[in-house]
Amino acid sequence: MSDNVSIPFLDLVGLHDGLEKELISVFQTALKTAGFVGGPMVDQFEREFAHFCDVTHCIGVANGTDAVRFALMAAGVGPGDVVVTVPHTFIATTEAISQTGARPDFVDIDDRTHGMDPRKLRHFLERECKIDSISGKPIHRRWNAPVTAVVPVHIYGQSVDMDPILELARRYRLIVVEDACQAHGAEYYSKMDSRWKKAGSMGHAAAFSFYPGKNLGACGEAGAVTTNNPEIARQIRLLRDHGQSRKYYHEVEGYNGRIDAIQAGILQVKLRYLTEWNRQRREAATGYHALLERTCSCLTLLREPSWSRSVYHLYVVRTGERDKLQKHLTEAGIGTGIHYPVPLHLQDAYRSMGFRRGDFPIAESVAAEILSLPMFPGLTVSQQKRVVEEVASFEGIGDTLSVQSATTA
Ligand SMILES: *Cc1c(COP(=O)(O)O)cnc(C)c1O
Repeated sequence: MSDNVSIPFLDLVGLHDGLEKELISVFQTALKTAGFVGGPMVDQFEREFAHFCDVTHCIGVANGTDAVRFALMAAGVGPGDVVVTVPHTFIATTEAISQTGARPDFVDIDDRTHGMDPRKLRHFLERECKIDSISGKPIHRRWNAPVTAVVPVHIYGQSVDMDPILELARRYRLIVVEDACQAHGAEYYSKMDSRWKKAGSMGHAAAFSFYPGKNLGACGEAGAVTTNNPEIARQIRLLRDHGQSRKYYHEVEGYNGRIDAIQAGILQVKLRYLTEWNRQRREAATGYHALLERTCSCLTLLREPSWSRSVYHLYVVRTGERDKLQKHLTEAGIGTGIHYPVPLHLQDAYRSMGFRRGDFPIAESVAAEILSLPMFPGLTVSQQKRVVEEVASFEGIGDTLSVQSATTA
């Protein structure tokens, strides 16, 4: 029977319980060496995270937004450019684009994966751009500005279908910066290369956030860029540290965008658990899927494509009755989230850009129907059963018995 013990959307306290000693010793090391900015803890974390992502360079930065911004700038995006991304993402993606001086534009998402639809990107490049006869680069017809980069977002922890996007990028000479801020450890099967690839290793560069709630989270703010390109890596090292290559010699004007050394030390500790935590998230997702499929007919479940190994930063379901279902679950003590309720092209912040309702219909209907269920490492099977029982009781079609039999079948 369902008791009324509440289930949080995300349990960060339980996650850190067993790590207290290790995390405190990071702080003690920082105190004893006064190594608060830069230093060996940063270098070691960068090496280990680069290894984890299968890339040659990792540059720690202050947060995920800086990571997207520096990656774009270092790869050559600047004022006057157009950068294409999706409207179904956190606003940091487009904030970072705007901060480079470029202008964001959007293509719609795929109805099944909720990631960038490569066909929509192709349509955009073919129909809304013309090719500059001298540079061979696409020019945005309406804005008369060069389209220089694309930012696919690995939303919910699942890689975008990258092969066709990389192919288009090659053809149209676009820079590709992956927004991997939700996808630490996600994998994509590339048919072009006949192998699984890590999120963060596929574009010219990729951005990660270590905001506390991400799959790999700091105890504060942090982010990183990954790349296989040594020149991009060098530029980002300049940009994050006031443009200096050595103290007080500034090659360019940069930013204060460095990673905090204590956070790097904490991330180094937590990185050792990430593979296991991601495994637990995948297991929980499989559990939800089996339970929901058998008991909750009014939900649309997202299927993992064969080319994807998601790390389930979020477990998202879809229903036309989203707001009512969320209210029902809240009253039952079950935490949920909506990631995200308003697509970026309809945000007040972008009102002046002239987008309209109907411009990106898939993103709009997804935003109206999605609900993120509790998902974190350590989420128990009985907690999941209770979540599913409450969803079923909302539908009025399920009961405890069918939930029980679904798990034992
Ligand atoms: C979290 C997130 C960011 C920004 O990261 P911060 O560390 O909060 O700056 C960017 N893009 C996406 C998709 C994110 O989820």
